[in-house]
Amino acid sequence: MFLIKDLKLKDYINQKGIRIKEIFCKNALTKSGISERSFSLNPYIGCEHSCIYCYATFIRKWREHKEEWGKIIEVKVNLCEQLKREIKKKRGIIYIGTIGDPYQPIELKYSLTRKAIEILKEYDFEFEILTKSHLILRDLKILKNYPKVSCEITLTTLNEKIRKLFEPKASSVKERMKTIEILIKNNISTTLFFGPILPYFSDKEEEIKKIFDFGKEVGIKEILCDSLNYFSQKLKIFLKNISFDRRAVNYYLKISKNYQEYVNNLKKRILEISKDYKIPIRVLF
Ligand code: SF4
Repeated sequence: MFLIKDLKLKDYINQKGIRIKEIFCKNALTKSGISERSFSLNPYIGCEHSCIYCYATFIRKWREHKEEWGKIIEVKVNLCEQLKREIKKKRGIIYIGTIGDPYQPIELKYSLTRKAIEILKEYDFEFEILTKSHLILRDLKILKNYPKVSCEITLTTLNEKIRKLFEPKASSVKERMKTIEILIKNNISTTLFFGPILPYFSDKEEEIKKIFDFGKEVGIKEILCDSLNYFSQKLKIFLKNISFDRRAVNYYLKISKNYQEYVNNLKKRILEISKDYKIPIRVLF
């Protein structure tokens, strides 16, 4: 009989130049911190999407790696076997993709996310998928007609050029908008995660309204708004990526002097704008 422990772990560089390191995980589910009854599930550690604002780069485990973010992905090859073992003893909501996108391109090869959601369905678990990838549509059939799933799709801007600057290898704006529409059309509970709101590029009234209008038009369940965290720690890389636009650079330098004040003003502005919309809009900061 084939046992997962007999599997030889591979460590290789794929065609895109990304190091893929297969690992055995001790736990499939970890306490999520959102509530006592919720858990996180992350099939992959590291993320090819390479968003320049990514907070996951601060996780302790990550500092062990020499490769830059997006250049190494750990794959939990025993995730599903481990999940089956743990799930019998646990109850609660499971958040999939809290420290790495569960539908990043490597999922096409390993299908760990797909297998995990099939198991969660089989055991009648409630789960929420956080992603900015249109690959989630591959699993539409599994998600459809399952009342205990919800999806949270990220949109940080509707401008494709700006998207490429901040989320270079994630799905395009069009793909994500289409994904949201298709999920909703298939009666899958879908939230639009508008975050992080990008200073200068998506924090102006007209840009915020464009996102809210889109949500309203497609019949979104809820819009969650979040600000850009770790601003000062990431400022250097932001400045490098937006250096082509002098006004944007000056804006970033200006708000960096009192970032909390900027965030407070942004919150006020969003709350004011959201009054004109009859859809649930929540500010998370
Ligand atoms: S998709 Fe999420 S986890 Fe992946 S790089 Fe972007 S912010 Fe980080």
